[in-house]
Amino acid sequence: MGKKVTSIELPRHARAAIDALERSGFEAWCVGGFVRDALMGRNGGDIDIATSAPWQEAKLAFEAAGFRVHETGTKHGTITAIIGEEPIEATTYRVDGPYTDGRHPDSVTFVQSIAADLDRRDFTMNAIAYHPVRGLLDPHDGRADIDAGIIRAVGNPERRFSEDALRIMRACRFASQLGFSIEDDTMRGMEYCTPLLASVAKERITKELQGFVCGSAIHDALMACNRILAFFMPEITAMQGFDQKTPYHQYDVLEHTAYVMQNTPPYPLVRWAALFHDMGKPQAFFTDDEGVGHFYGHAKLSIELAKPVLKELAFPPSFSSDVLLLVRYHDDVIEPTPKAVKRMLRRLDGRIDLFRAMCDLKRGDSLAQAPKCRKRVAVADELDRILDQIIEAQEAFSLRDLAIGGTDLIELGVAQGPEIGQLLDRALEAVIDERVENDRDHLLAFVRKQWR
Ligand code: ATP
Ligand code: MG
Repeated sequence: MGKKVTSIELPRHARAAIDALERSGFEAWCVGGFVRDALMGRNGGDIDIATSAPWQEAKLAFEAAGFRVHETGTKHGTITAIIGEEPIEATTYRVDGPYTDGRHPDSVTFVQSIAADLDRRDFTMNAIAYHPVRGLLDPHDGRADIDAGIIRAVGNPERRFSEDALRIMRACRFASQLGFSIEDDTMRGMEYCTPLLASVAKERITKELQGFVCGSAIHDALMACNRILAFFMPEITAMQGFDQKTPYHQYDVLEHTAYVMQNTPPYPLVRWAALFHDMGKPQAFFTDDEGVGHFYGHAKLSIELAKPVLKELAFPPSFSSDVLLLVRYHDDVIEPTPKAVKRMLRRLDGRIDLFRAMCDLKRGDSLAQAPKCRKRVAVADELDRILDQIIEAQEAFSLRDLAIGGTDLIELGVAQGPEIGQLLDRALEAVIDERVENDRDHLLAFVRKQWR
């Protein structure tokens, strides 16, 4: 967690925005994520200003100071000033009506005081205002919660989450990104209101989930928020507490999954694949005569469970199919030999990025198993090195690398259609297995034999 900070250094353009508004007779504060992050000793992030000025007046004040202004959300009282090159959002003090799209309140009411504006904000850590002269305004004790690493709803949690269910997903995302825990009443309110997420825009939910999945504290956040996640992926409930009864594992399926995610780099492809990789285990489970658990075919079941989730969340189809490819092959043993690496590459459509992600997933998976399995991390490292060598030596591992193509086969007399692809694929397989050399004559001879 960041160090304690006693005063906030506002960037020059933020001070200039506040000055411009106050010179015109209004009040202005810096609010939201910037203040929260600064109090945690973190810099950066967008700067939001809350002001008593109606947006038309704020616009005049900014223009008088020589700043360009964009009318980015005037319905909700928001304009954006460009100061130097930096955009700053200024929003009139307001309280919100209901949200039906989970993004914009259907209506807003402008109010006179910053205190009322802070009251409508989601969490205490986000309901702090800062002014370079007046200092911190922190009516909900957000500062103490930040120092303690706690996410707490402003006001009555149930009421706040039923006003806007997206806040539930924001809490999950903040928990994962900041490493904060969620206060008990707040969590109860989140769980109680979870069904309301059905009416929130998918894109909005997906964006929050993406931040959640890629957070630096994903293990703790997944363990804390699993009952909310189960709304989108019901199998989570079966994963929790599911004893694997095998010497390879020391955690239940959910906690294993949480550790795999934690032990992979924070990019969406590998993190989503990690989330789904063992989802099929509860359904695939059986015990042998010795009482040891097995999960044959679980990867296939995981795919079937992941598909509708990815579809429902409106991911681009190419992203979903990449995730599913990783899930499908995550448990395949890849011997650390060039031949085996090239075979896997062929299955991954020759995609180097997918192979690298597979290595990341395998590393994360090994680290989350029983200690005796962790030496498999070295195998994944070795696979990465072998791939480097294959690329360096420009060896063939995808159809693109093959010395013949579809037109060669058509010239041979093969009819256009799926057979062309099948023959080329067999040719590639033969090259990878070193049964045929990757040159035109040898390959054409090989294809002729296969085809007849
Ligand atoms: P980030 O670091 O992700 O930008 P943030 O807290 O700045 O975090 P924003 O979405 O930029 O998040 O919102 C700015 C501020 O507006 C928040 O700090 C919070 O005070 C308020 N806010 C945003 N969304 C909501 C919401 N759905 N309900 C209540 N308040 C909200
Ligand atoms: Mg922000």
